[in-house]
Amino acid sequence: MDALDAKYPFFAAAREAVADAAVSLPELVAADAPAVERGRERVERALMDGTVESESGEFPGESDYDVQAELLSYPIARILVSLLDSEPAIEKYAAAEAATAVDRIRGDLATDDELRSVPTPTVALDDVLAEFDLADAVRPESSRSASAPDAGAPGRDPAHYRIDVGPYLRLTSPSWGESWRLVNRALADGAVRVSRGELLDALEAAVEERVREGLPFELAAGEGIAAELEEGVADLKRLLSERSYAGPIDVVAPELFPPCMTNLIEKAERGADLSPPESFALMAFLVGIGMTPDEVVAFCADTSLDAEGIRYQTEYLKDDRGTQYPPPTCETLANYGICHNEEDHMQVAADPLAYYEKRVAAADEVADWRDREDGDGERDGDEKEGDEREGHESAEAGGTPESGGAAESSGTATTDGAE
Ligand code: SF4
Repeated sequence: MDALDAKYPFFAAAREAVADAAVSLPELVAADAPAVERGRERVERALMDGTVESESGEFPGESDYDVQAELLSYPIARILVSLLDSEPAIEKYAAAEAATAVDRIRGDLATDDELRSVPTPTVALDDVLAEFDLADAVRPESSRSASAPDAGAPGRDPAHYRIDVGPYLRLTSPSWGESWRLVNRALADGAVRVSRGELLDALEAAVEERVREGLPFELAAGEGIAAELEEGVADLKRLLSERSYAGPIDVVAPELFPPCMTNLIEKAERGADLSPPESFALMAFLVGIGMTPDEVVAFCADTSLDAEGIRYQTEYLKDDRGTQYPPPTCETLANYGICHNEEDHMQVAADPLAYYEKRVAAADEVADWRDREDGDGERDGDEKEGDEREGHESAEAGGTPESGGAAESSGTATTDGAE
């Protein structure tokens, strides 16, 4: 088995490798092979952290055994997520597979040719485009046709591409922000101009679509492989119910939001588009603190986030049983560059919701944004300025949840109470 198959298990070649290996998944499960535990970890990390990267860190590729376990963990994960019997779980799992894959693709593209002696093989952009039948639909922009000064040279690393309008519309969504709307795009000869980063966002959607295909499997509960995996599924459900915020904190106090969320809101308020992981993290946080889709729409009224996209994301973050999926952990947000862990406050809580809960608990008095005078959820200018000031002071003073509220405003933030 090729390590590249394990790295991108949804590629056609990987599917063939699994078929060629003629491994019996029920036997694998019955034998409790390493692929089974890794498959369970894959789903757990997807649901909890928005990534399927192994917690142990590096992508395993040093031995054939690791490669096989990693590759086979993918079909096992697909069975597990099917058995969870939850549409939002499937959505989130597919999104996490896609986010992880695009992270890896980004890494591969950044790997200099001369450094390709790394143990894990890499893909080229052309390979990825061909995998999704986009080889003819996406073309690097030549410097002659580029109107922007940063268009870059054609060939290996162009800064912009042209993607045919059909695939563009299929793979992108106006819900990603105003700039993705076709009317706001340079369109010529039936092709849309996108930056390299935007092309990767579209490819992430292509991966997500591929992973999502065919899920959930129809599996008779209590029989065959479903019976063998019963314990693993029960563990995942238990974990979900423990980690889900069954009784959401249900207080909206923007001045107590963790810095990562404040930064994302401020970025959107400046009119900048949020990347898919940024937007997911923010929506999961706002839903996690008990906001309804309407409230989130009102809260984000003056930002680059549009109502349609907000509704789509917030709907799938809750299933019809009210289970909520928490935002990714601080560690994952740090990997995405969303968290800067000011003054090491990651030591205090593992995820932004937990951090916010502690800040709310430590505050003397909390005014809910939904009850404020104007009633439409608008943060007025003075208040917003105050929030920003407080955020900076808190960060500079090493503010922690335990030092929130009064301590923060008196500038005597201390980490004494930190866990
Ligand atoms: S440590 Fe956690 S809560 Fe704090 S900024 Fe980072 S992600 Fe947000």
